Amino acid sequence: MVKKVLKFGGTSVGSIDRIKHVAEIIKKERQNENKIIVIVSAMSGKTNELLKMSTDISKEFNNRELDVLLSSGEQVTCALLTGALINLKLKARSWLNWQIPILTEGDHTNARIINTNVDRINEYLKNGVAVIPGFQGISKNGDITTIGRGGSDATAVAFAKLFNADTCEIYTDVDGIYSTDPNKIPVAKKIDKISYDEMLELSSLGAKVMQSSAVQTAMMYNVPLEVKSTFTDRKGTKIFDQSNIDYKKSVTGVAYSKDDAKITLIGVEDKPGIAANIFEPLNKAQINVDMVIQNISLDSKTTDVTFTIKRGDFIKTKKILNENNLIEYKKISHNNKVSKVSIVGAGMVSTPGVTYRMFRALADEKINILAISTSEIKLSVIINEENTLNAVKKLHTIFELD
Ligand code: ADP
Ligand code: ASP
Ligand code: MG
Repeated sequence: MVKKVLKFGGTSVGSIDRIKHVAEIIKKERQNENKIIVIVSAMSGKTNELLKMSTDISKEFNNRELDVLLSSGEQVTCALLTGALINLKLKARSWLNWQIPILTEGDHTNARIINTNVDRINEYLKNGVAVIPGFQGISKNGDITTIGRGGSDATAVAFAKLFNADTCEIYTDVDGIYSTDPNKIPVAKKIDKISYDEMLELSSLGAKVMQSSAVQTAMMYNVPLEVKSTFTDRKGTKIFDQSNIDYKKSVTGVAYSKDDAKITLIGVEDKPGIAANIFEPLNKAQINVDMVIQNISLDSKTTDVTFTIKRGDFIKTKKILNENNLIEYKKISHNNKVSKVSIVGAGMVSTPGVTYRMFRALADEKINILAISTSEIKLSVIINEENTLNAVKKLHTIFELD
């Protein structure tokens, strides 16, 4: 007998037939008296549909009400799946966020799970399957909160940790983690096992197969993860501690995001405090600045500052810069059609020449690099969006991942 957390993503529960299929998977898992906690996402497309309804009412829809609205998607799946399990003669019940409760802290739409009441569910698991809505919780004021897009992954990891589960299995529409998105680059290869660090980089850099904060929590508490397919029986990908992995390749995967924007302030006065004056108001407005590049000034009086942000924050950022009277610059230039392409690999640490090979490969494709950022196990470049897939394909090939 083992205790398992099984998470089913949007596509996995995207229709009534698929929900019935998921119920069959859970029935098999219940054999051997396994204790099963199931975390479900909303049916695919549902969260976006609800989001669209809110923006149709107002572009500045109230965040508390948005959480009430968005959380409903997962609640629907929860009830449907539990009904399907009961139909298969299994003992099962849904537990909504306030019934357990799943406690969160932090802002609406961006909260995080901090605790839950394990006793009642543990008691229930002796005979029954607990079905829990992902992506949500309840604040100490009793308000419904959601925990960020893709957040059912984070619910699964939090539950695996809080319930001391033996495994946390993420069922999705691909059969594991690939060297890049297999739906976009068909020559992508499945990875049998990957370290938390590499997975965290891949997710934060655009591989949405796992939500990055879920990977971060798993890494922090050593929750072993497995990503596998709802639709095939093939073995999935195990995500765990780096010490268990033997690195044969310098690069493990290529990730990309297409929701970036780049802003350059030209002719900024070059004096101490200027960077703080530029970025402090952005931070206050919760705008996440990604890469920052400051050119060396030729005349020691002025410099150019380039930075990247999420495209969704572009208009807000421009407005804040316009209203900022602590900074002076000659001109502002921007490009909101850029993307970020990254190579990730723990093997990069011990392989010289990875940087040069990446830049040469992009140059061969006549792809201009607009900004660069590096860490020990990743190298990211900002390029024009139209070159994204071309760059990913090329890097995938030259780092022998095809
Ligand atoms: P779910 O709804 O199950 O949470 P997601 O849509 O969030 O599923 O994530 C699965 C998708 O992630 C896949 O369909 C695939 O297109 C995409 N993806 C991006 N990068 C990768 C990668 N490196 N490996 C596998 N899938 C990836
Ligand atoms: N339904 C939520 C979303 O689409 C959470 C999830 O699917 O993980 O972001
Ligand atoms: Mg997901």
